[in-house]
Amino acid sequence: MSAIAANLQAVLARIADACALSGRSPESVRLLAVSKTWPADCVLAAAAAGQRAFGESYVQEGVAKLAATSGDDLEWHFIGPLQSNKTRAVAEHFAWVHGIDRLKIAERLAAQRPAHLPPLQVCVQVNVSGEASKSGCRPDEAAALCHAVAALPRLRLRGLMTIPEPSDDVAAQRAPFCRLRELAEQLRAAGLTLDTLSMGMSHDLEAAVAEGATIVRIGTAIFGERHTL
Ligand SMILES: *Cc1c(COP(=O)(O)O)cnc(C)c1O
Repeated sequence: MSAIAANLQAVLARIADACALSGRSPESVRLLAVSKTWPADCVLAAAAAGQRAFGESYVQEGVAKLAATSGDDLEWHFIGPLQSNKTRAVAEHFAWVHGIDRLKIAERLAAQRPAHLPPLQVCVQVNVSGEASKSGCRPDEAAALCHAVAALPRLRLRGLMTIPEPSDDVAAQRAPFCRLRELAEQLRAAGLTLDTLSMGMSHDLEAAVAEGATIVRIGTAIFGERHTL
């Protein structure tokens, strides 16, 4: 078994254990393998071990890797910060975008999504940690942004995403994930259809699953430590 296949198995076991602890079915959590900075060969090794969904944070790198693995019927998620001059490539190549934090970006993606492709699946990114430097809309802006995104053509609003401050303490890890889950519940009560909570990375996936994550975004635990950006 390749190292990547073994790591993948270990991550799936962590997800299954975390699900068992909170009485959730392991099928309720999808694993997104974050392949940023790793070459297409690593993606192919993970795909050979059964992994279908991959996440990329840099547009050019992601598009090149997607082209290099195009025979494999993989599902690509854009998870990085997105500038308006890069939206077209994302709209044309990716299946999902996790980091919508401004209406302008969503409007461009909607206008640029090719008609022959299924709607682009999107999550609104919320900054639940409260630091001004972090990307993501403020929690009190999320309702307006979600309603506006949900009304756009060619996009399908799936849910919320967050990247909290890293912490080694499980209780501290759970707090922002809990806030995101509660925010999603409020938005559902306000009439929005949201089935996705994209939260949890290599160091905090257990906390995220305990708080209801439906997609965990895992890079390091599958592919190893990143040496470049
Ligand atoms: C890089 C990245 C991840 C993966 O982080 P790891 O700690 O390597 O698991 C998850 N989400 C986003 C948005 C990222 O940029």
